[in-house]
Amino acid sequence: MELNDIDAASVTHGQLQKELWRTAQSPWKSGILPSAESLARARASLPAHLSQEGIGFEASKNHVLTDIVPAFNGSSICPNYYGFITGGVTPAALFADNVVSTYDQNVQVHLPEHSISTDVESCALGLLVDLLDLERGNWHHGTFTTGATASNILGLACGREYAIRLAGMKNGHSALSVGDLGLFEAMQAAGISGVQVLSTLPHSSLAKAAGVLGIGRSNVKNVCQEENPLKFDLARLESELQKSDKATIVAVSCGEVNTGHFATSRKEDMQALRQLCDKYGAWIHVDGAFGIFGRVLENSAEFASIRKSCDGIELADSITGDGHKLLNVPYDCGFFLCRHGDEANNVFQNANAAYLTAGNSAQPSIPSPLNIGIENSRRFRALPVYTTLVAYGKTGYRGVLERQIRLARMVAAWLFDHPAYNVLPESLSKEQLSEQTYMSVLFSAKEDELNKYLAKNINDTAKMFVSGTSWQGRSACRIAISNWRVNEVRDFAIITAVLDAIAGNAQN
Ligand SMILES: *Cc1c(COP(=O)(O)O)cnc(C)c1O
Repeated sequence: MELNDIDAASVTHGQLQKELWRTAQSPWKSGILPSAESLARARASLPAHLSQEGIGFEASKNHVLTDIVPAFNGSSICPNYYGFITGGVTPAALFADNVVSTYDQNVQVHLPEHSISTDVESCALGLLVDLLDLERGNWHHGTFTTGATASNILGLACGREYAIRLAGMKNGHSALSVGDLGLFEAMQAAGISGVQVLSTLPHSSLAKAAGVLGIGRSNVKNVCQEENPLKFDLARLESELQKSDKATIVAVSCGEVNTGHFATSRKEDMQALRQLCDKYGAWIHVDGAFGIFGRVLENSAEFASIRKSCDGIELADSITGDGHKLLNVPYDCGFFLCRHGDEANNVFQNANAAYLTAGNSAQPSIPSPLNIGIENSRRFRALPVYTTLVAYGKTGYRGVLERQIRLARMVAAWLFDHPAYNVLPESLSKEQLSEQTYMSVLFSAKEDELNKYLAKNINDTAKMFVSGTSWQGRSACRIAISNWRVNEVRDFAIITAVLDAIAGNAQN
């Protein structure tokens, strides 16, 4: 088939967007996961090999809409999908994402005379810094990434660069750079044998980042309190920091993914970490993929516990945040903020490519993204962030998060009183749960038989979807409320009806 302009015009036309939106609303009325038949039909429709001629635009469009789309899940569209932390897509972000695809800007070099895209990206980062109540003066360096995993890679890479350089200074080297010398030579010159990442129940992607960066997954260590795995044991932390043959990055779980609880409870906790890390030349990276959005809340009695748990995060060296979770922009989008302007450039500079230099930039303060992040060519994923923040402002996001937290707390209190279920961690009282629950609830069934298939039984109802996980060796379920379409009254009724029915069935 010939590729011609008519095809391009019909894709960009509003008609197709309307058609897509209509189909996007319909398939999930009967459930959140696709039926086995839809999956089988979609699988059978996939061609075994590339056809010589192609079937053309119209036929391929119909194939996608009628064969493939019905086999998608409703994770982002259905407000009762509580698996992972999936988020939804705000109308403004959806609009902007379609603009991104249509105009297909490549945001890699700051070329202010060629496109406004890098200016918009820089502005969007500033709006995010405002949203998160951080100071622009300290947090002007950052970039958009594909997600929190990529941001964690950036954070550990910058921390590795910094901590090894400081170790090198003690050994008489003024400016060792891993980006320049490589890890092995830089560590040898610094007189150290490794880099360690100290944390409390870090997200799995932190170990992945350590693997990618030559730090090693086994060098990501928990330094948790004996009685509370979510909090740092400062004495253990200090004894690890004292090891003179290691460079150290401290990773703060600002929102632990299973429980939604925070590693720090107040600003003083971060100050204590900062003091220790300054003493031993360590870097502090905050993984705030979803937790950092707690800073959107006001310090009201209802939300003070969450707001305080994100206080002091401004003392960190770098911060990871996700766009496709609580910000409710489409996949894929994350962001990385850093207080040290040069660190990312030391690692990620795309050196020696004269044809990619920005030339005489009118705004030299905007760095070319290709020098501070993983990719060279990049999607304009900043535009949906920009548009949704311009559209709904701080109040819009605060309102959504408040509703998500209220629903989570209603569910946690209801589960706490339920004869068949436990809320986790079990050490928390009902009062503590009502103050400390963020937008997710971790729970299990008391009876092993009920617990074994709990996630499956819940998800089989097709009325809601939860993630199965495990907590202290026992399987558990997690309800993560992250969609902007949350409605406390409607959704509380749905959740409790499903969980009551499952507990009741098990008893009969
Ligand atoms: C989800 C999550 C990640 C990984 O995020 P991706 O966007 O899937 O890459 C990292 N850290 C935390 C705390 C998370 O919740």
